[in-house]
Parts: sequence; C-alpha cells; structure tokens
Amino acid sequence: MKIANGTVVYIHYTLTNDAGQIMDSSEGTDPLAYIQGMGNVIPGLERALDGCVTGDKFSVSIDPEDAYGTFDEALIHSVPRSAFGDIEAIEAGMRFQTRAPDGGMMVLTVSQVANDLVTLDGNHPLAGQRLTFAVEVTAVRAATPTEIEHGHVHDGDDHHH
Ligand code: ZN
Repeated sequence: MKIANGTVVYIHYTLTNDAGQIMDSSEGTDPLAYIQGMGNVIPGLERALDGCVTGDKFSVSIDPEDAYGTFDEALIHSVPRSAFGDIEAIEAGMRFQTRAPDGGMMVLTVSQVANDLVTLDGNHPLAGQRLTFAVEVTAVRAATPTEIEHGHVHDGDDHHH
C-alpha cells in the first residue's frame, strides 16, 4: 500500500540539524505512527513520504518554512519577574503553556532571566532550523474511520482519551 491521505504510516526516523547534531530519533523505541494528510507531522515530511511504500528508506532536508517555521523576533517578550507570582525558581529552559492570541495553545520558553526581567520566547525550539530526516517506512495501512475521526492513531492497549 502506498502512503496517501488517510493511511497510517509507521516510520523509524533520525532527525539532525544543520550542525549534524541528532535532535530526535525513534531508535530503541517503537516506530512513530501518524496519519498522513492530517498535519500530525511537519508538512515537509508528509510531502516527502507521500507515495512511499514499506521498506522505503531515504534522507530528506526540510527548510524551516516546511518544518517548524521561521524564527520570529516578534514572539520574544520580556516580562517582569513579578508576573510569575508564586513560582519560585524561574530558570532559562523552563516552559510554560499559555493561550495564544489566535485562541490556541502556545508554549513559551524562558530564554533568559536577568535581574527582574524574564525573557520569553514563543518560537518552537526548532524554529528557523533546516532539518534533515533519515527515514525508513516500516509499515503502511489504511486508517480506521475512528482514527480519521479522532485525528490520531489507535494502536495497542495504551490508548486513552
Ligand atoms: Zn482516539
């Protein structure tokens, strides 16, 4: 079966950035399972996998526009330390989930704490980066109607809602 919209795709992958650092990998775990055509994975990866079959193995470089977006300076804000109220230790690298202007959820990463100012970065940690995926397709199957309805894969016994 070829990968097309509405198929469940299982891949092993290793993600590296332009500096050759491994950012993420499915090595040592189960393959990643996702539904093609539902935005479960970044657009550039969906496009590269479209039409592939089980056993296909390749490497693809994806520009930021088709990965986690370009880096946006406007998403960086400094707020007073007091805005965090009771939270005692604010440190670079901490993440907070908050409501985005468009109503969705966004993750803010603390990029710097200096004196009484905390710098928050709303960019995805991989924004602005060109990413290379080494991918191997391990299985392809049709998604069930329930999976399509839910927008995610149901596998094994560990699925909870
Ligand atoms: Zn579900």
